[in-house]
Amino acid sequence: MMIETGDELLLHQKQSSKEISLEQDVENKYYKKKTLLHWKDMPQHLQFNPHILTGYRPLSNAWGCVNSIWYLHNETINIVTHAIPILYILLTVPQILPWSQADLSFLAWCHIAGILCPWIGSFIYHLFMNLHRGPKAYYILLQVDMLGIWVSQSFGAMPMIFATTYCLPYTIKSFLITSYCLLSIWGLYKALTAWSPWERRLCFLMPFIMRILLWCLRISSIGGGDPAAFTHVLLQDVVSIAGGAIGALHIPEKWFPGFVDMYLNSHNIMHIMVVAAVYSMHTATMKDLNWMSRVNCSAAL
Ligand SMILES: [Zn+2]
Repeated sequence: MMIETGDELLLHQKQSSKEISLEQDVENKYYKKKTLLHWKDMPQHLQFNPHILTGYRPLSNAWGCVNSIWYLHNETINIVTHAIPILYILLTVPQILPWSQADLSFLAWCHIAGILCPWIGSFIYHLFMNLHRGPKAYYILLQVDMLGIWVSQSFGAMPMIFATTYCLPYTIKSFLITSYCLLSIWGLYKALTAWSPWERRLCFLMPFIMRILLWCLRISSIGGGDPAAFTHVLLQDVVSIAGGAIGALHIPEKWFPGFVDMYLNSHNIMHIMVVAAVYSMHTATMKDLNWMSRVNCSAAL
């Protein structure tokens, strides 16, 4: 009897280990075949765009997410469009920043953080979006993405704000810079506690309104900054707002559901537009940093 029970136990163990290895085989084959899923097969938290019908990666562990870089799915363009700027910035931008000028090195750090963080946040969010850890993990990834955008809007805007207020009296200058910092912190709180996509977009409204006021200051005779940078100062916000609007309206996939799942959907277009917007921010900031290094305020006013 004992021997039979032992045999049965052994048989059971063998069967269950066979089942586990069979399950693993199926899972491995699933990944190897790079099976992509339909919108209706996805969990609710990943069904945020009902017009993108196919190309969804199955839920997977972190390694499966990383491996998804090597095959085509409906997040590939989103991952690639923000991975390339990371490499490009790291290879080219640090060499041209004024690190040696003590009063500008803080702004140089702000600039590098401002143009790098949105792509790092976005890359992490899009790559690990299909992590099998449920909506909570997805929400954390969304916050990482939002944090990257926030760094760009707060720290990244610092050189522009410093340049605009550069030659103003100390108290006014301090008041404007502190106001922008406080509005940015409020925006961060809102961004990290927002639940809907629209709420998330509106988090950046107050710092944006303040930037409009700073544009006005810039075109007046009392505002500072390189006049040649003005078009790019304007473009950095206009292009990113236009990109955000396209993303929010789900155009063109709303008109052609299922036809732009892999390429040219609203999020792909928005990604490229925000890269263009940050390129404008970079161009304007380089001009402003250069302007601050050579301007004589008493002569400028
Ligand atoms: Zn994105």
